[in-house]
Amino acid sequence: MPTDHSYPPLPEPLVVGVYDNHTHLDPPPSKGSGDENEGPEREVLDYLEQLDRASSVGVRGVVQVGGDVESSIWAAEQAAREPRMLAAVAIHPNEAPRYDEAGQLDEALAVIAELATRPRVRAIGETGLDFFRTPQEGRAAQFRSFEAHIEIAKANGLALQIHDRDAHDDVIETLLRVGAPERTVFHCYSGDGAMARICADNGWYMSFAGTVTFKNAENLRDALEIAPRQLLLVETDAPFLTPTPLRGRPNAPYLLPHTLRFMASHLGTDVSMLAAQITSNTELVYGTWDSEPVTAE
Ligand SMILES: [Zn+2]
Repeated sequence: MPTDHSYPPLPEPLVVGVYDNHTHLDPPPSKGSGDENEGPEREVLDYLEQLDRASSVGVRGVVQVGGDVESSIWAAEQAAREPRMLAAVAIHPNEAPRYDEAGQLDEALAVIAELATRPRVRAIGETGLDFFRTPQEGRAAQFRSFEAHIEIAKANGLALQIHDRDAHDDVIETLLRVGAPERTVFHCYSGDGAMARICADNGWYMSFAGTVTFKNAENLRDALEIAPRQLLLVETDAPFLTPTPLRGRPNAPYLLPHTLRFMASHLGTDVSMLAAQITSNTELVYGTWDSEPVTAE
């Protein structure tokens, strides 16, 4: 059967709302990189349509996450005028070596430091280490960029959103050496139960994505059981990581209820109780979505 590349139907609305604390709603880059040849065309939804669908099923708001200069500016600008959106800004760990090679990493970090002072930018992310995609020669730039992002988060009292792929030990070592910001989030948590204990001991948040529903992800479900409830967050990382049973189709914030319901069922708890706890955690990390006036154009 051919894979269905259209957006899945709306799930049943949540009774108690939650936030998607990590998503990418910016339009895909239209640069002639050749990426557009990778597989069949994906249905594209405008971010306002995405947010409307999310609201209709109880996903109250999102943190829109940047990964390079352009997407970070986009996040900060849209969040300034959209009450359902807050922004996170950063140079992604796989982008850092590219900027560095072009001699533009310091300049890019300066843009992030400036964006960090904008009113509805509430987090620095996604930053961290990725040893899966970045080979050895790019890692010095990755470390330098990660450390700079930690300092920007601390200087502005912002949360830190960490991207950690195949780099658990080095991410933890760096956080402990440089000093983690007060609110530190492992986005798309990918560690096991033992690492969840380390996060718990340090008061670091663990944000679970659709990956926790994947069949072979026993390590994530172990971590979910061990993570203190007050350190739990939930996210989609849309358009990636669509939860089971919708894998292969595009992901979106309105699909968050699937992951939340899976987590509640795995933990043997009530969906609304878990949603209330996660919403309170999310507002502690990022502040409230509607606390500041939205800038008029
Ligand atoms: Zn992401």
